[in-house]
Amino acid sequence: MITLGIDIGSTTSKCVLMKDGQEIIASSLRVGGLGTEGPAEALAELWEKAGITADKVDRTIVTGYGRNKYEGADGEVSELTCHALGGRLIFPGLRTLIDIGGQDAKIISLSESGRMSNFVMNDKCAAGTGRFLDVMANILRMDVDELDECASKSVKPASISSTCTVFAESEVISQLANGVERPDLVAGICESVASRVSALARRAGVVPKVCMSGGVAKNGAVRRALAKSLGTDIDFDPMAQYFGAIGAALYAYRQLTK
Ligand code: ADP
Repeated sequence: MITLGIDIGSTTSKCVLMKDGQEIIASSLRVGGLGTEGPAEALAELWEKAGITADKVDRTIVTGYGRNKYEGADGEVSELTCHALGGRLIFPGLRTLIDIGGQDAKIISLSESGRMSNFVMNDKCAAGTGRFLDVMANILRMDVDELDECASKSVKPASISSTCTVFAESEVISQLANGVERPDLVAGICESVASRVSALARRAGVVPKVCMSGGVAKNGAVRRALAKSLGTDIDFDPMAQYFGAIGAALYAYRQLTK
């Protein structure tokens, strides 16, 4: 049975094609979420990679910020449910999922049996989200993918005291002008995101096994700072940004087989 999960986020669109609720056949990601060509482009890329056409898909579920506006699916499911399902498929026994996306951060708690038992979310403020990293990378004229390696060269991470993205932006510009080394600044920026999210995670309660999902999970400096601050290991999988789409494809499979 072939199912398709589409995750239309605030900044990126992700698709996952799955066989029998277990095997990922193909995945695709395009920058551009709700209200852009992102979803259509991600789908076109998916068909090309998988070498099959849409008529071979048995069921499609859409999730994410833009799910309500998308008309090409058989059903829609909340991203909380999908991230929990995707996370649990990749990490059996998962109890806490920390999702940092382009516009929000969520902590999802799972029961022993894998049901979502609680969640807390930060969606009012860009600090502690991918947006914060996007803004800072832009100031430093870097790509977000380069931040992790740059931070790894830091000797003394800079302290970013502002909790507001707009003020932190000015702070980073003035630290740059004062000669603070770029790796130290980047490490400080990553630690700032981790510190915001760890406060959120403490509110939710952190029970191991813990993993991260969302685009920011790809940044090892954020992951390490978060693990240190929470005093727990944090598991990571290179497919972390696709957990929502994986969960949607799995949800579609479960609907077909129940
Ligand atoms: P959404 O579903 O809200 O669109 P995603 O989970 O797809 O969000 O994550 C998108 C965010 O992840 C963007 O802010 C992007 O800059 C950030 N991101 C992507 N790759 C990396 C990376 N290598 N390091 C840090 N942040 C990243």
